[in-house]
Amino acid sequence: MGVDQVLGNNVITTSLDKLVNWSRSRSMWPMTFGLACCAIEMMAAGAARFDLDRFGILFRASPRQADVIIIAGTVTKKMLPVIQTVYEQMPEPKYVIAMGACASSGGVFDSYSVVQGIDEVLPVDVYIPGCPPRPEGLIYGLQKLQEKIMAERNSFGAAIGYGEVVKDA
Ligand code: SF4
Repeated sequence: MGVDQVLGNNVITTSLDKLVNWSRSRSMWPMTFGLACCAIEMMAAGAARFDLDRFGILFRASPRQADVIIIAGTVTKKMLPVIQTVYEQMPEPKYVIAMGACASSGGVFDSYSVVQGIDEVLPVDVYIPGCPPRPEGLIYGLQKLQEKIMAERNSFGAAIGYGEVVKDA
């Protein structure tokens, strides 16, 4: 009788990287941070009807406890230093979602006071199109980020101080 017959379906084997990626991608905690009208859709995604909690996605009020920053709204040049400070206070590994046209490209505000896309200063992982995107769009974007995290390599090594996480492009 082989080991597989004794244990049946009660054991799974995996790599430590996959285990770390799975736990990270299933407990993404976004920073509570909104900038303009897109933030209303983000709030709706977190509320009862769309219920982001069911994906393990819980908004946190402190950057120290957040993995993801969702740039939801128009990024003005006046607000940019605040966004950068909040981002820098988040621990690694951290991820950025540009939600909506304004965060992705400045949207309709091609003006002196608006940053023409948050990717000018932060490394964006996922862009979500729309003005505004609906909560379903944000949920889809978060699922894409989960897929991206699952594809990372050396997650365990980086967590214990050996090398860097290797992200797929
Ligand atoms: S993309 Fe549209 S809905 Fe979102 S912040 Fe800009 S103007 Fe508002």
